[in-house]
Order: sequence, then structure tokens, then C-alpha cells
Amino acid sequence: MFDSLKERLESIFSGLRGRGKLTEEDVQQALREIRRALLEADVNYKVVKDLVEKIRVRAVGADVLESIMPARQVSAVVYEEIARIMGEGSRGIDISPQPPTLVMMVGLQGGGKTTSSAKLAKKLSKSHKPMLVACDLRRPAAVDQLRVLAGQAGVAFFGPEASETDVVALSQRALAYAASHLIDVLVFDTAGRLAVDEEMMAELDRMKAALDPHEILLVVDAMSGQEALNVAEAFNNRLGVTGVVLSKLDGDARGGAALAVLAATGVPVKFAGVGEGLDAIEQFDPRRMAERIMG
Ligand code: GDP
Repeated sequence: MFDSLKERLESIFSGLRGRGKLTEEDVQQALREIRRALLEADVNYKVVKDLVEKIRVRAVGADVLESIMPARQVSAVVYEEIARIMGEGSRGIDISPQPPTLVMMVGLQGGGKTTSSAKLAKKLSKSHKPMLVACDLRRPAAVDQLRVLAGQAGVAFFGPEASETDVVALSQRALAYAASHLIDVLVFDTAGRLAVDEEMMAELDRMKAALDPHEILLVVDAMSGQEALNVAEAFNNRLGVTGVVLSKLDGDARGGAALAVLAATGVPVKFAGVGEGLDAIEQFDPRRMAERIMG
């Protein structure tokens, strides 16, 4: 998925290896190329600047330049810094010791929120009894889509009544249902909009206040490039997002969105969507992602 960036970095490192002993100028030149490769991969400018600076500080040092295999040392530094920017370790859903665990899925319409909710519920169903809750009161089609996906995933589904107008009342009914059906994880597929808007944010805010969820997972379309960053900042500033699901990573040939979102918001990417099927979700692993980028 990161083929282009990976190839670029590989060719930069093989150029360095071909030189044997490295001068500071060799490393500076490689850094300029790395910078260009990251920018062309759609990684945010500020993120690139910061990353390249960190690499420079470590790679230009005498211990690297005078080491036996300087080129390998430089690539190791680049790898470590890319992994570091993505956060340490791999993280799943934060399951509450006191059930039920409440997970609010938020994001823009079309970003992959409904699909990701169903994928997550299916994944969770291996060890828990999750229920999907359809919270979009304005789009009956979205409710139907989630009902169908819940059926395919083999997990419980809870939707609004025909006349339901209050998403908080719906959430409370869902909680009551869960309590009497031994449901231990509720995944709320909230209403999205085509763009960030105040009405949507206010509704999400009310839900958050009423539910006090353990996780607020923002679904961001990896293909949206730099826009992913703006969306992540808007949701995070308003709601305090606990994690990101990066959807459609299978289509993100440039590979910039993950880096950009993470580095700019500090919110960890917890899962990656890698296809349309309900099993096409992976726990996001920063080190593995760095390996993919670095080859
Ligand atoms: P929502 O409006 O945010 O709920 O978005 P949907 O869940 O309806 O997804 C929008 C479209 O993106 C659908 O056609 C999904 O099949 C597709 N989609 C969602 N996640 C992924 C993914 O990880 N990879 C790919 N290739 N398609 C995805």
C-alpha cells in the first residue's frame, strides 16, 4: 500500500550504501530527498519538517558517520523516527473492566464509519457480545445499512423507532436493552455529515455527555490525504477523540494520511480498514506500518 514512498526511500538508501563512507553532505543530500519523498507522499509539511529535523540531529552525528556501516545506521534512524511518530506499541479497544464498554464511532459521511463499526463489532464478537446501535435519525438508509451489516457480521443490532427524534433517548434505550441481554460492548454508529458542521458536533457532544463513552473512535478516510488532518483536528478539538480508525488504507498508495493524522493530533491510530469486507480491518501496528513504509 505504501509502494511509492517505500520505493523512493529504498532508492535513497541504496544510493547511500553505494557510497561506502559518508560525509555530512551525503547525509544532508539524502535528507533533502527523504523530505521530498515524504512531501510527495502527502505528509503534512509541519510533520515532515519536524521529522527530518529529528533525523538530521541523530544521523549527522560523528558516531553515525564514522560507523562501519553508516548507510545502514542512517536508515535505522529514519525507521525509528517514522515508527516513533506513529506512536509506540499496538493498541486495540480499551475494554472497560466494568461492562458494558461504550464505543462511539464518529466521522464524516462516506468516510467508512458504518462499515468500520460493523467490522469492529465482528472482530469484538470473537471475545465479547457486542451490539451495533444505529444513531443516524435523519438517514433511514444508514440505519438499514447497519442492520444489514450487523446481520452479516452475526452481531446484535439496535435501531431507532420510526418516530424517534432524540439520539440520547435512543442511546438510553439501547443501554437498557443491552443490560437485559448480556451485551457487554455497545458500538454507536453516530450520524455523519458531508462536512464538519455545528449541528452534528452538538449532537455528538450531547451523546458524549450522556454516555460518557470509553472510546470515541474517529473514522478517517486515508484516501482523503491532507483533508484527513483537518477532519481529525476538528473532531478532536471538539470531542476529545481516543483513537482513529484509518479506513480505506488499501487505497492509500501515497501513505501520508496515517503519518499526518498521528503526528499532528497526537491521537493514536488504533485500527486500519483494508478493504470492503467485514473482516478487512487490522489492529494498527505503528512498527509494522513503519516497516511497510521503509521496506
Ligand atoms: P459512512 O457514511 O461513513 O458510514 O461510510 P460507509 O461505511 O457507508 O462507507 C462508504 C464506502 O466506503 C462504502 O462503499 C464502503 O464499502 C467503503 N469502505 C469503507 N471502509 C473501507 C475500506 O477500508 N476499504 C475500502 N476499499 N472501502 C471501504
